[in-house]
Parts: sequence; C-alpha cells; structure tokens
Amino acid sequence: MNIRETVQQLKNERSDPLCAYLYDMNRLRDHVETVVRSLPDRCRMFYAMKANSEPEILQALAPIVDGLEVASLGEVEKARAVSTDIPVIFGGPGKTDQEIEGAIRHRVTRFHVESLHELRRIEEIAKRLQANVSILLRVNLSGPFPSATLSMAGRPTQFGMNEEEVGEAIRTAWASAHICLQGFHFHSISNQLNAQSHLQLLNMYREKVEAWEEAYGLKVTAVNVGGGIGVNYQNLDAQFDWPLFVEGLKPLVEGFPSHWRHIDFECGRYLTAACGYYACEVLDIKRNHGKNYVLVRGGTHHFRLPVSWQHSHPFEVVPVEKWPYSFERKGFEGEPVTITGQLCTPKDVMARDIRVDRVRIGDIILFQYTGAYSWSISHHDFLSHPHPEHLYLEHPAVCEPR
Ligand SMILES: *Cc1c(COP(=O)(O)O)cnc(C)c1O
Repeated sequence: MNIRETVQQLKNERSDPLCAYLYDMNRLRDHVETVVRSLPDRCRMFYAMKANSEPEILQALAPIVDGLEVASLGEVEKARAVSTDIPVIFGGPGKTDQEIEGAIRHRVTRFHVESLHELRRIEEIAKRLQANVSILLRVNLSGPFPSATLSMAGRPTQFGMNEEEVGEAIRTAWASAHICLQGFHFHSISNQLNAQSHLQLLNMYREKVEAWEEAYGLKVTAVNVGGGIGVNYQNLDAQFDWPLFVEGLKPLVEGFPSHWRHIDFECGRYLTAACGYYACEVLDIKRNHGKNYVLVRGGTHHFRLPVSWQHSHPFEVVPVEKWPYSFERKGFEGEPVTITGQLCTPKDVMARDIRVDRVRIGDIILFQYTGAYSWSISHHDFLSHPHPEHLYLEHPAVCEPR
C-alpha cells in the first residue's frame, strides 16, 4: 500500500473528518541510514532533536545516529528517556544554571558554549559538582560567507561569541580545572540547498580553526560544523545533492589535521522532513471575492511551518469517493485554490493560489515533507480544536518519491 491508499483507508475507517500526521518509519530509517553510512571517516552525525522530538522518532533514530543534539533540559530528559547512554550534546542560547546542572547530572557528553558568561557559569557549576565538562566554543564568524541564505552567523544574532572573544574564551577554559576545551562549534546557516556552497562553508571553518590553533597554540580534537542542510519545499524533485556533498567532503576531511578526531554534524530538518505527512480532510469549499478557498480539518495550529516560512507548502489531493449527503458535492477543477484551516484568522493559510486538477469536499489534502519543524513548532491549543492523530506507519510499502 502506498501513502495515498493508506490515507484513503484511514478515511474510510473513520466517521470523523480525517486529520493526522503520518510518519513513514521505513523511509525515515532508510534515509538516515543512507546519510550516516555515506559519511567519511572521522565524521559523525548527531540528530538535532528540536526538529521533531516525538519519542517514536527518537527511538527510531537513536540506534542509527551517533548521538542527539539538544537545546534545553527538557530535550535532555527526552533524550535520556530514549537511551540512558546515547551521546548527548547540549547547545542553544540562554542556558540557565539549573539546566547546566541538570545536564551534567544527566551525563551530557559536551556543552556548546554560547558566551563568556556561560563559560564562567559552567566552570563554577562543574567545580561545585566536582565534574569534568567537555566543551566546544560556539563562534559567530564575521564572514563574508560563500553562501547566500545566512541566518545564524555572519551578521548580528543572539548566537555564539564574536571572533574577537575567542582568545579570552580559550584562556578562561584553560584556566579551569573542570573544563576540557575540545574545539569549536559553528552553526551558521539554515536550509542550505547547495552542496558546493556547503563544502565551501566547511572549508572556511577549517581555515578559521587552523588560524586559531596557530594564534593561540591550541590543538583541537573536535569541530562541530552544525546542521542547516536544507529541504527544497518549492521543488521536491530538486533536493540537496547529498551524494555530491559526500563526494566533496571526503577529500576535504582527509585534508584536515590528523589531531581533529571528530568532525560532527548536527542535522535536524534534513533527517526527518521527508518522512512526514499531514493529512487533512476538506470540510468546505467556497469562492470568496473571486478567490477559491479549500477549508480543511486542522490548520496552522497543527502545522505552522508554511506561515513561519511564508511559503505555500507542497501537497497533493487524495480523492475520496465516499459522500454521505443526499445533495450535490462541491468541488473545483483545474483552478487555483488556497488551502486554509479552521482558525478564525486570515493568517491560517497553508498554501496559496495553487492549481489543482480537482478537489472536492471530503477529499484529503496531503501535505508532504512535514516531518521537521511542523507539529513541534505549532501552537496546538489555539481555539481548542482536537489534536491530530499521530500515526507511525511501519509498512506503507513504498512511499514513492514524487
Ligand atoms: C536548529 C539547530 C540545528 C539543526 O538545524 P537544521 O536546520 O534542522 O539542520 C543544529 N544546531 C543548532 C545549534 C541549532 O540551533
């Protein structure tokens, strides 16, 4: 059964309108295994769990990835609920003392330190707990960067420390008996779609770290190159060219100094986006001031990604033949439609002016690539509608790429 047939069957089993997140667990595992296996020596893949921290997703990924990247004590606890010994690395701005202490107690493998103040607090807390803490310094590089869609660095943001502070941070770490400075952390970009640009970015990181090793007489053992590998929501057939990326990554990493033992990636979106679907039944159809609207069960309180990114999210229409009413069924054929949800705000739009062959009341709108930053970033209880079902499908034989 493919995903369309699965959705039709789910609809036929239910009397309520369908509204569900579906996860193709086979596709998830296959994709992440392929990614992890293709990495060259010394490279490791951590899963940035803020993209989707549902326990079923974490359980599926824990045996495949090298560890989990977390950004709060809540995420540390979710990671530990899945595995008591999986490596956990802790990044993110604004860590509180309680979070730092909690993370040390949960045996977090490494902290990514975002500021000098945070470094000094980690030192005090580690000393009080008689713990040894491994860290990377997160740096917001000054650029210029080889690529266009910058988000977290190369411009003013709340993330990481300035390059000018690196020297003081290194000396502060060295002065501490409880801190082991292992290297540097960079997460500069989001939704990178170009493999060559990403390789250039990694090469720039290399040059920076080599310069700091030289300037400060330092030898790092780990460099974390962040996440940020993207998903092309506008054209699902033109995704990040992972094979080309690893082909270029291999010689790049072979050229890194041999004492750099670990080159760590921490990807979220690229690992989980493709396995997810959000399926919503069409409740009503109308033409308003000359525009066609398709209203579905659900909306942006379940699925905020299209509003957050200001894009039309890709979807397909899954036809449902069942029609329980005695009157005529309304629909649009070959016309542009705007897909909206059940919220009482004109911002509740998931796709705008997209031409469809046919859509009728009772059909299912199946949004694709909703496995990352979808349910996890949404305001679920606005308007107090029911939550969607969450179905973790083990056997939708092939969810063929479009
Ligand atoms: C969000 C985040 C990631 C993951 O980003 P993706 O774009 O999902 O790969 C990795 N590292 C840090 C520090 C992050 O904040």
